[in-house]
Amino acid sequence: MGPGPANADPRILAAQSLPLLGHMHPPFLKIMDEVQQGLRYLFQTDSKYTLCASGTGHAGMEMAIANLLEPGETIVVGNNGIWGTRVCDMAGRFGAKVVNLQTEAGKSFSLAELTAAVEQHKPAVLFLCQGESSTGVHQSLAGVGEMCRKNGTLLLVDTVCSLGGVPMYADAWGVDAIYSGSQKCLSAPPGGAPLMLNDRALQKVQNRKTKVRSYYLDLHLVGDYWGWYGSRSYHHTGMVSMWYALREALAIVAEEGLDAMWARHEAVHKQMWDGLRSMGLEPFVEDPNDRLVTVNTIKARAGCYGAGRCVPAGVDWAALCKNAMDKYNVEIAGGLGPTAGKIWRVGLMGYNAKPANVELVLAAFRDGLQQQNYLKA
Ligand code: PMP
Repeated sequence: MGPGPANADPRILAAQSLPLLGHMHPPFLKIMDEVQQGLRYLFQTDSKYTLCASGTGHAGMEMAIANLLEPGETIVVGNNGIWGTRVCDMAGRFGAKVVNLQTEAGKSFSLAELTAAVEQHKPAVLFLCQGESSTGVHQSLAGVGEMCRKNGTLLLVDTVCSLGGVPMYADAWGVDAIYSGSQKCLSAPPGGAPLMLNDRALQKVQNRKTKVRSYYLDLHLVGDYWGWYGSRSYHHTGMVSMWYALREALAIVAEEGLDAMWARHEAVHKQMWDGLRSMGLEPFVEDPNDRLVTVNTIKARAGCYGAGRCVPAGVDWAALCKNAMDKYNVEIAGGLGPTAGKIWRVGLMGYNAKPANVELVLAAFRDGLQQQNYLKA
């Protein structure tokens, strides 16, 4: 119940253990086609250009950056946690000019702030993280795609912690490129990074003047393996078992339906916060509209967090996590990057986003807080 990986669905684990097929054999190419089709539904796009990058979420991140930016081009990075910081680092390595648009951990960017930055810098790419898992912030994308289009900018969005847990309408919202991860709301093991480009983003890749600086992540080559350009040729050995797993994960998404899946994530988030608040705990993210339902951040450090919202002294967050693991077999995580030592993080994602799991997390919190005399037994 940490920020991921979440437990995998047993159906997905069973699919992953099926016998291998050859990575260029027609039955396997059909499985790749079905993965692409399932991803179109998940991203809510009609774009032909979907695939699963071979690697974890970082592979999707690096694939997007390596292909969408040429050396000397500008990227504006919405940075409100560890993922923005990493994208700044990565884009710099590929020779881009990086504009670090930083805001406080726990806050999202307003459309006005993003518009001002894009109009000033006219970047090739604007990066945003829809689900900032180090802070528990949900970034609204309303109006951002349209604004980017007006300024000749591509909108790139990280959905590793959010895809399947909160709404995403890639086409309707004008999101040009998205990457994600297999191990969070999709309930598969780590190792696959769903990715999509729309026509605008693909055109940018095809019109590059310079070669993509990574062979392994070059979408001219990887896209060809996935059939983006009409033919299919060997680039690397496809992650046969991983793609069985993702295909099963996408089948499960389609069976439940996205609306029901988003509603389920929202409902367990509400259930958990009803319980946490009854113990006197408070969300780290001040604005209710900014709270991510899939990774929940809870103030853990004694002290005041602005506007007179204080947490009583004497709670050892790490001791609570240890007790939860030792006694309940439940992972509750601490903070990461800018939130290290300040918060707890509870993931409610995919297979794990169930009422019974919320009850277990609440029991672990209640017990941990009672042991530390923060709550009366
Ligand atoms: N982006 C976000 C929002 C994430 O939460 C993570 C993983 N925690 C990543 C990117 C990186 O993914 P991975 O660890 O699978 O490489």
